[in-house]
Amino acid sequence: MPPYQFPYLQMGTIEYNYYINFSLIGLLHSQNHSKFAERNNPKYQIDEMKKHNFYAGPSILSEYTIKNTADAILNFADTGLSILEVSHRSKEFTAVIEEASALVKELLEVPEGYHVLFLGGGASMQFCMVPYNLLAKKAAYLETGTWAVNAIKEAKLFGEVDIVASSKDANFSYIPKDFTIPSDADYFHYTTNNTIYGTEIRFDPESPVPLVADMSSDIFSRPVDVSKYDVIYAGAQKNLAPAGVTIAIVKESALGHVDRPIPTMLNYATHVKKGSMFNTPPVLPIYSALQTLRYYKQLGGVKELEKLDVAKAAKLYEAIDSSRIFKGTAAVEDRSIMNVCFVMTPEYAELEKGFIDFATERGIVGIKGHRSVGGFRASLYNALPMESVDVLIQAMQDFEAKH
Ligand code: PLP
Repeated sequence: MPPYQFPYLQMGTIEYNYYINFSLIGLLHSQNHSKFAERNNPKYQIDEMKKHNFYAGPSILSEYTIKNTADAILNFADTGLSILEVSHRSKEFTAVIEEASALVKELLEVPEGYHVLFLGGGASMQFCMVPYNLLAKKAAYLETGTWAVNAIKEAKLFGEVDIVASSKDANFSYIPKDFTIPSDADYFHYTTNNTIYGTEIRFDPESPVPLVADMSSDIFSRPVDVSKYDVIYAGAQKNLAPAGVTIAIVKESALGHVDRPIPTMLNYATHVKKGSMFNTPPVLPIYSALQTLRYYKQLGGVKELEKLDVAKAAKLYEAIDSSRIFKGTAAVEDRSIMNVCFVMTPEYAELEKGFIDFATERGIVGIKGHRSVGGFRASLYNALPMESVDVLIQAMQDFEAKH
C-alpha cells in the first residue's frame, strides 16, 4: 500500500513541499527538510507572513518559532518521534527545559537566588498562587485593569488587601501615580501592561516592600531589575509561545514565610524542587518558548527588542494623533507600547465597523478592541514586524481620505 501523503504546511508565499509519509503502522519514516535549511536564520521569520496579525493573545509569534515548532512536531531533535509523543523526562526534552530556563535567566539578567518555573494554569493561576505562597498578613495591590481586579479578588481569599490606588474611575485609561505602598505589606503587586486598556508601567517601581508583577503582555520588551521582585509571572501567549505555559521567576528566599498549608501543585516550592517536572509540564509550549528565546537572543536581547517595540508604537501613536477620525483612549504618558487602543472620534463613530472591514480586506486581523473599551486595539508584540504597522497606518490614512 502506498504511503498516505499530504501537504503539511503552507504559510505566506512559501509553499512547503513538506510531506509526511505514513506507513500502515503509522510510522513517520520520510521527511523533506530541505525547505528548513534556513531555519536558524532569524531574518527568515518576517518576510513571508501572509496576514498582519494584531491579535491581543494568543497572538503573533515569529516564523522562527512557528517553523521550528512545526519541524519538531514532525521530528523532534532527530529522535524520529514527534515532540507530541516523547516523554517529558527524556534527555532531549530535559535539555529543552534547561536551555529555556537558562535563556530566560540570561535575557532578563536574573540574579542568583531565583528560579525560573514553567507552569500550567495560565497567568490566572498565578493570581491565587502568589497570595497562597506569599501573603502572610497583608498585601498591596495596584488596580489598573481587569487582570489586576482578578488578581485582587484572589488575594482577598488569603488575607488583607490594601488597594493602594485605582484607575477604575476612568475605565482604567491611566496609571495612578499618587499612592503610598504600606511598608508593612508582604509585597506590592502590579500589572506591568494592561492588555485590555493599553496602559503600561515600563519601569520597576520604587517600593518599600518586594514587588510582584504580572508581566503577561510585555515580558521581554524591556530590561527588568529582577532583584526588586519576589515573583514575576507571565502567561506565554503574547511574547513567548502558544497558550499553555506560564513562566514564573521566583525568589527562593521569598518562600516559606506563610503558615497555611499549601496544596502541592500550588506550592512554588514543589516546582522549584522538581525543576518544573513535578508533574507533566506543557511540553509543546515550552519547546516553542525555547525557540522564541533563542530568537530573542539572536536579535540582540531585550534592549534591542525594546528599541523595535518603541519604534513601532511611536509610529502608530503618531498616526493616531495626527488623524481627524481616530483618537487614542489611554492617557498619553501611560500609553502601552504593546497594545495600542484607539477609537473613532464621536462624529465618525458609526464608521467603526466599516474600518474593520476595510482593514480586513488588506490582510489586517485582530484589531477589534476589547468590549470594555470598544473601538480598536492593535497589539504590537515583539514578533510583529514594522511592515505590519506600516500597512495598518496606510489603511487608516486611506480610510480617512475617503471620509
Ligand atoms: N494578565 C494579563 C496582563 C493578561 O493580558 C492576561 C490575558 O490576556 C492574563 C493575565 C490572563 O492570562 P491567562 O489567560 O493565561 O490566565
